[in-house]
Amino acid sequence: MESAFTFCDELGPEKILHLYHPDETGLKAILVVDNVAMGPSIGGTRMAPDVSLEECFRLARAMTLKNAAAGLPHGGGKSVIFADPHLPLRDKENLVRGFARAIADVKDYIPGPDMGTDETCMAWMRDSIHRAVGLPREIGGIPLDEIGATGHGLVASLEAATDFSTLQLHGARIAVQGFGSVGKHAARLLAKKGAILVAASDSVGSIMNPDGIDVAALIRHKESGEPVTTFPDGKRGDGDAIIDVECEIWIPAARPDVIHADNVDRLQAKVIVQGANIPCTLEAEQILHNRGVLVLPDFIANAGGVICAAVEYHGGTESQALAIITEKIRDNTRQVLTSMRDNDCLPRTAAIAMARDRVQAAMRFRRHY
Ligand code: NAD
Repeated sequence: MESAFTFCDELGPEKILHLYHPDETGLKAILVVDNVAMGPSIGGTRMAPDVSLEECFRLARAMTLKNAAAGLPHGGGKSVIFADPHLPLRDKENLVRGFARAIADVKDYIPGPDMGTDETCMAWMRDSIHRAVGLPREIGGIPLDEIGATGHGLVASLEAATDFSTLQLHGARIAVQGFGSVGKHAARLLAKKGAILVAASDSVGSIMNPDGIDVAALIRHKESGEPVTTFPDGKRGDGDAIIDVECEIWIPAARPDVIHADNVDRLQAKVIVQGANIPCTLEAEQILHNRGVLVLPDFIANAGGVICAAVEYHGGTESQALAIITEKIRDNTRQVLTSMRDNDCLPRTAAIAMARDRVQAAMRFRRHY
């Protein structure tokens, strides 16, 4: 059997809680608080039938690094609820409220939305235990997916990357894998800078047009409930076809591990900005680096959502959140790419070293470490 101590290293995890309530809610959940040296941990609550302790730990550690890199006064944590996210709403509310009550005393963990949970779930949590981020606007939240917080960060990262490659945003062709909250806002904001969307995909398939796709029209089409494949203007393909598209910027914004050693040679972009978490295997990132392709790592480039959540938690406004996202992600990208160049290493190696240094510096101020 997998031991919780398998994951221990010099950063954490500080605690792992297994929750089981054999009552009418049938709650089964895991909470990992990885490291709280920077402050109380923030991290999403994922709801899915097939989550695991390992997944929860990896995501919690990613939050430790992401929050530290972004300079937030928050550590990293994550929780998973073993359940079908498409439960009837009443049952989902009971389950989420049951989970919230079970973690009420774990004050160094602040839950946020993740796959299978949303701002309504966070409103139930806040109502139950007075602690959650990613709240609806009606109760003081900044709706991070509606405003495209993560997309703003991806653009800031790309802008910083133009000093480290021959990339120009104006006229750059972009391909987006996963035209959801992250992907569509990244495309919308890049189009404002003169970039041209030449391909987009979702879980159904892809749509491609080398002359450019009208981003606003594609967003309206998706918001009407249609997949990208029924968009009238472009050539349809399967989901995999997005990998072969000729472009300057390739944006993974869907699932983990979509680029690996067996398909990485098909990518033709100059820059890959990681909207999704861990979309490329380490081996694929190394191959891309050897080819001179710049890969802007997930926990640096896609930190816009959690930065927005932290600004909300501390009482800030939407415009403050967007300004902080741009400033922090631009600065961090510059720092990571400078270190990549100086130390001749992968951007991810440079980013991990930077984030670990920040966590370890914070740990030195804490008595119980
Ligand atoms: P979302 O559910 O709004 O959108 C995901 C999109 O990906 C959907 O259009 C879906 O159809 C599509 N998709 C699913 N499987 C696919 C596949 N195999 N190929 C192509 N497309 C596929 O989710 P989101 O909030 O945009 O998040 C996307 C990714 O970014 C996730 O990995 C998430 O963990 C990560 N992320 C999100 C945020 C945020 O602020 N929302 C922040 C950081 C990281």
